[in-house]
Amino acid sequence: MWTATGIAHLTLIQNFCRKVVLVLAVALAQVAALLLNLLDPKPPTAPRGGVFLLRSTCLTGFTFRAKQRNASPVIQTEAHAMQARAVSRTILWVLFGLYVLIVFLPNLAWWKLAPVDAPFATPMAANLVFLLLAFALTRPVWPGVWLLLPLAVLAPAEVFYTLTYGHPSDVHLLGILRETNLSEAGSYARGLGGLVLLTMLGTLGLGMWLARGLRASGLAWPGRIRLLVLVSGGLAGVLIAAQDLPLGEAEAAGPEPGRQAEMEARLTGGETSGSGRELMNSYPLGLPFRVASYLEQRAGLAEAQARLQDFSFGAHQPAAPAARQVHVLVIGETGRADHWQLNGYARATTPRLARTPGVVNFGDVVSNWAWTRMSVPVMLTRKPGRDRNVFFAERSLISAFREAGFRTYWLSTQSPLGKHDSSIALYADEADETRYLNPARYSGPGVYDGALLEALDAVLARREPRQLIVLHTLGSHFNYADRYPESFDVFRPSFKGRSDASLHDPSNRSELRNSYDNSILYTDHVLAEAIDRLNRLDAHATLLYMADHGENLFDDDCPKSGHGHMTERDFRVASIWWNSASWARARPEPLTRLHSRRNAPLTAEHVFPTLLDAAGIKIDGDDETHSLLAQAWRPRPRWVQGELDFDAAVRDVQCLALVSGAHARRAIK
Ligand SMILES: [Zn+2]
Repeated sequence: MWTATGIAHLTLIQNFCRKVVLVLAVALAQVAALLLNLLDPKPPTAPRGGVFLLRSTCLTGFTFRAKQRNASPVIQTEAHAMQARAVSRTILWVLFGLYVLIVFLPNLAWWKLAPVDAPFATPMAANLVFLLLAFALTRPVWPGVWLLLPLAVLAPAEVFYTLTYGHPSDVHLLGILRETNLSEAGSYARGLGGLVLLTMLGTLGLGMWLARGLRASGLAWPGRIRLLVLVSGGLAGVLIAAQDLPLGEAEAAGPEPGRQAEMEARLTGGETSGSGRELMNSYPLGLPFRVASYLEQRAGLAEAQARLQDFSFGAHQPAAPAARQVHVLVIGETGRADHWQLNGYARATTPRLARTPGVVNFGDVVSNWAWTRMSVPVMLTRKPGRDRNVFFAERSLISAFREAGFRTYWLSTQSPLGKHDSSIALYADEADETRYLNPARYSGPGVYDGALLEALDAVLARREPRQLIVLHTLGSHFNYADRYPESFDVFRPSFKGRSDASLHDPSNRSELRNSYDNSILYTDHVLAEAIDRLNRLDAHATLLYMADHGENLFDDDCPKSGHGHMTERDFRVASIWWNSASWARARPEPLTRLHSRRNAPLTAEHVFPTLLDAAGIKIDGDDETHSLLAQAWRPRPRWVQGELDFDAAVRDVQCLALVSGAHARRAIK
């Protein structure tokens, strides 16, 4: 019943309706304003002398009351009253200007930090028009102050968030707040800082006081100016809304058929288009777009979760050991293999892991995808590395561990929602406890992965007999210098403390490389600390780390940076294994097999079966040929980006970009 044409029409109709509503709302506001204008009584004649002074604003009121005591009301002259009223009105206008500036301030904070290509003129103009319209809705100015009060009070927090995390509040923050319990919310509020809370309270006071003052003084728009503001503002609103009107083609062209495509689009999309995209980061007009985008992405997630509701692995642990069991999966981010000292890199980027007993480094690991949202699900599920769909009709290893009686945890410094995140959050939500520790998304500095160690301590301190803990790190995500504290800024010059970090300028090659290596050095610290904690437990413990994809760093003569370029450096990733002594005693032969495969050709597909095997968990339809611990393990073709055999593909000389070789072409057919 959900044909492609049907969905395309539905989308077209939805978009059209949204815009019609927007246009109607602006028109309605204008009509309402005109009616109010007609109904408005003339501004009351200001009471003369002392009475007027007593009804003046608090600030001016105090001054005038004091004066009044010294002067006889009888000799209070009309001129004095006029002068006092003029002063009071000047102060009111100044405070009014301050109030408007506070509501507008988040835009200026973002303007300071936004990339040069970020939309600027339209969002600034649109928000100014919005503020003007809000004040011009009624002839007296004071109702507008009340109307904007919630936005004014939130504005200092928004400015603080933007300046601290390098990006306005967004879907990420809404997702975090959803996962946050009351005590965590309290700690976030404390994290805001006393100054910000005071500023918010001060703004609240200012707004309430200003509204009363403006009302008492009877300040009102001159009729013609207000009409001009309403008409021109309304027209501007209509023009901004109308630029998204679907005039023919474009948005209706939904290429994929069926509800699956629709849901997958929501899982990996949630990107607002048109004026929504332009206004998204502006304040306050961006707020409804942020909430709408959040709700849409949540709906996509909920639909995907509903489809997996009845799925079961039939998982069990036939020979459960008496000892405590703790298994940890660390998902790395942008962990390029050849920049790890353990893989022969000339710099000491992994010194701690290099001297940690029991660490096994896998030297030939390929991620099936150069995109986080596609590669991480291959680690977590039985999804074939070659499967090009976003959605896979099975749950993840987290559910398998849960079914087998483990308490499961997902601790993350990444995002709970978003284009790159929702397809992973789908699995994170399977855990008994899911915690997102980073108030910032990956585009800002935020917290370091070290925050995961504190969360890990708290989980380990619970001493539950069976635990699975997934740590989803930010690893070496660009901006690399944002991923490690000052004390790890060893390779220099780096981008640490600089605001001009760019991934796209080849003249930054050495800064990029140094910053990147520092982030690996910090990952080394986080992994070594996690292993240290597991080692102290006296438990059957294992840790498996694998990065989601690699990175290009303007290597040699290659003009590429970042990932997703189909190069060998996109796919070769770092991966290590560690196990406790008691686990080794219980599983000596599997451990020997794992050691013997340390340089075998591996992919993300090995994570799921190896981790289940490490915990001795059996599931329906078990395929032991994938587990590195199993006798039956066999190497398999390593598919990347769903289309190329990594080992068969030809490399170009400049960037080691993979080109489909004859063998690969045959295999694809
Ligand atoms: Zn990634």
